[in-house]
Amino acid sequence: MTPTYEPQSIEASWYEKWEEAGVFRPEINPDGEPFCIVIPPPNVTGQLHMGHALNHSLIDTIVRRKRMQGYAAVWVPGTDHAGIATQNVVERQLAEEGMSRHDLGREAFIEQVWEWKHQYGNRITEQMRRLGDSCDWTRERFTMDEGLSTAVREVFVSLYEQDLMYRGNRIINWCPRCTTALAEVEVEYWDEDGELASIAYPLTSGDGQIVVATTRAETMLGDTAVAVHPEDERYAALVGQTVTLPLVGREIPIIADEHVDPEFGTGAVKVTPAHDPNDFAIGERHDLEQVNVMDEHGVINAEGGLFEGTDRFDARRAVKEALDGLGLLVGVKEHQHSVGHCYRCGTVVEPYLSLQWFVQVRPITEPAIDAVRDGSSRFVLQRWENSYFNWMENLRDWCVSRQIWWGHRIPAWYCGGDDCQEVYVSREDLDACPDCGGPVSQDEDVLDTWFSSALWPFSVFDWPNETSDLATFYPNSVMVTGFDI
Ligand SMILES: [Zn+2]
Ligand SMILES: [Zn+2]
Repeated sequence: MTPTYEPQSIEASWYEKWEEAGVFRPEINPDGEPFCIVIPPPNVTGQLHMGHALNHSLIDTIVRRKRMQGYAAVWVPGTDHAGIATQNVVERQLAEEGMSRHDLGREAFIEQVWEWKHQYGNRITEQMRRLGDSCDWTRERFTMDEGLSTAVREVFVSLYEQDLMYRGNRIINWCPRCTTALAEVEVEYWDEDGELASIAYPLTSGDGQIVVATTRAETMLGDTAVAVHPEDERYAALVGQTVTLPLVGREIPIIADEHVDPEFGTGAVKVTPAHDPNDFAIGERHDLEQVNVMDEHGVINAEGGLFEGTDRFDARRAVKEALDGLGLLVGVKEHQHSVGHCYRCGTVVEPYLSLQWFVQVRPITEPAIDAVRDGSSRFVLQRWENSYFNWMENLRDWCVSRQIWWGHRIPAWYCGGDDCQEVYVSREDLDACPDCGGPVSQDEDVLDTWFSSALWPFSVFDWPNETSDLATFYPNSVMVTGFDI
């Protein structure tokens, strides 16, 4: 026997005995009232950090106490398939062999990710055992399990049936390196030094010019209007006239829109519906053309004329030089501003017009807001109500499609029949168009990883099947998570 206590050798073997004896299962208190906590599923690629240690200790304390009080207490463990994070890990492995996922093809790549999961995906659950987490491992789940995938598909289809899920051209956050859309929470903002360039747009009539300012000069190639505030006297006579867009030659209208801040800069703003979310909204109100000037890698496309083939940051410089050459660069001043970056790779995110799937959030957030306003849900501490209202009232429709392969594939099929072109969103896989019998192809995209983790509290019990675990343990008793979740 060693003279000092060695937790490494003692704890692991005890944990094994506990697990084998089933002491963490709710069945040990068969007559107890149910008590349930589901784990906020950690990424399968992850390893425990101090945040988990705190979170898991809190959950463990609550669950162990309830168990000792005679409750049929359960802590349901599991992991998240972590879409982009996991795909990036396997892509890096492939890159070491000089290959890309496209060399493998979709099916073989997904198989490779599953292999990675079987080989390395249990690191974090092993660490949880070492920490002593009193989870019921017989109920362990994974967001890509068959049962959870059924729940994902059921929710997608039913949202679609209720007109809460739609496909549309919208401005999304785009990572030109990962070539995928990103959710708002996947964008990290920090301040960077940039330049605010003031550019003169000559009136088509030849009677003067109007000056606008931008930090992203290259986007002027996609401008389709100049906007001013309707009550701005300085521009009253110009509304309805047109300017000729320098370098491009397009004639674009001067419009009046309430959302223009007359105090900012010259009070006139360039409008680029395909490259800025606010401009997109102005464009919708005024039925403006959307001119996308970049390809998926952030390189200027044919719409950019002379600048075609130039990377967006090189184009930013080149556009300013060209404007300067025409005497239309009125001024450039240094300007610190907040810039969004991809949380996976740090690349500057591009607001990008693209065809994506969206969840309409208004009809979902309104009842959730009302529930707090009318007191049926209560915040402790009450001051957090304000943050909550602020978040909920300013949510934009949720872009749920991702241009990657690892995840729940979107259950939409497009008919390739000559006169049909129907779209089917379906609970069952389709091999032919139900309408014309023509060939169909499934949407290439997968869902945002948060789409499945959001369903976790009931999908772990195989909802929509009416299982006895679902009846017993849902709604859950407590959730211990980060405040932003
Ligand atoms: Zn990225
Ligand atoms: Zn068809």
